[in-house]
Amino acid sequence: MDFNITLEAPPVGTGGEAPYDVVIVGGGPAGATAAIYTARAGLKTLVIDKGLTAGALGITGMIANYPGVPEEIGGAELLERMRSQARAFGAQFVADKVIGVDLLSQVKSVFANGGTYTGRAVILSTGSMGRGQRVKGEDELLGHGVSYCATCDAAFFRDQEVVVAGNSDEAIEEALFLTRFVKRVHFLSPTPALKAPQALVEELLANQKVTLYPGAALREVQGRERVSGVRFGVRGQGEQTLPVTGAFIYLQGGKPVTDFLLGQVELSSQGCLVVDREYHTALPGVFAVGDLLCNHVKQAVVAAAEGAVAGIAVEKELHGRKQLAVDWSK
Ligand SMILES: Cc1cc2nc3c(=O)[nH]c(=O)nc-3n(C[C@H](O)[C@H](O)[C@H](O)COP(=O)(O)OP(=O)(O)OC[C@H]3O[C@@H](n4cnc5c(N)ncnc54)[C@H](O)[C@@H]3O)c2cc1C
Repeated sequence: MDFNITLEAPPVGTGGEAPYDVVIVGGGPAGATAAIYTARAGLKTLVIDKGLTAGALGITGMIANYPGVPEEIGGAELLERMRSQARAFGAQFVADKVIGVDLLSQVKSVFANGGTYTGRAVILSTGSMGRGQRVKGEDELLGHGVSYCATCDAAFFRDQEVVVAGNSDEAIEEALFLTRFVKRVHFLSPTPALKAPQALVEELLANQKVTLYPGAALREVQGRERVSGVRFGVRGQGEQTLPVTGAFIYLQGGKPVTDFLLGQVELSSQGCLVVDREYHTALPGVFAVGDLLCNHVKQAVVAAAEGAVAGIAVEKELHGRKQLAVDWSK
């Protein structure tokens, strides 16, 4: 598979003044479709996404049931088509990981590794690839050798040996960034093959500082006050340990990705966002769509449809048009 991935430099936040009409967090089918609608409506639209193969559609090998696309197509390729369509209407995309938000102020702020992005409205569409269970030792050693951000922490590991656990383009980008600082990156991929664009995989494999361990499941991060090693299992080969001082973890699970919301948006008892029929949360100017909401069919076309409804609703809200006075409970 060969993708044309366009990465743009992160815009610098201006602190107070809102440079975007709408900031969309997550560029899967839900976020990318919302961007098609908001950008086409003339709204200045920014989509922040941490990686083409970090979401559910991006990791899907082949998809054959997306309407209007009768041929079997890789999930990442279908997603890249949606993003290109949004770009053609003027939407901007940045590759960045969102780590926090301020959604309570009138101007919304989205904090990411590469900077702060502000907008008048925010659409949340980070999907449900979040991790529920941590590996042994991960929570205890977070900030003491365990990290989720190479861009932030790589310099602390100069000339040391570290582990990167993951298989997405996010994990690979972070590993390549780390090679500029560390002596060796031990790359533990939970699957036999990496799930990322071929060019990126080749760049990783060609890097002399990287050792790849295919099909390696991280079981434990070891250490008392700081990371001193990891334990992992490779199918058919039993368990192994590696002495490392850092563990950078980019594994995926099946929980709604809500950690970056810092408790500002109402969640149901199952940890899902609560929205109305136009995908509006209880906060003014804040919408949520796609797999992030749990009680619905998880399919790309459903996520895309929700993105379309929210995109139209954002346009209505920002232009001050009245919401339809409908009692949705009936
Ligand atoms: C293995 C598999 C096979 C599937 N097969 C099909 C199929 O054949 N047909 C079908 O219709 N559906 C299929 N699905 C379901 C479909 O992929 C999902 O329903 C759909 O992708 C959900 O879209 P979404 O935009 O809500 O979330 P996602 O596609 O998960 O996109 C979320 C995006 O948010 C980004 N993100 C997450 N956290 C952050 C953060 N902190 N900062 C920045 N960005 C972030 C991710 O990088 C990702 O791009 C499949 C799913 C899986 C897992």
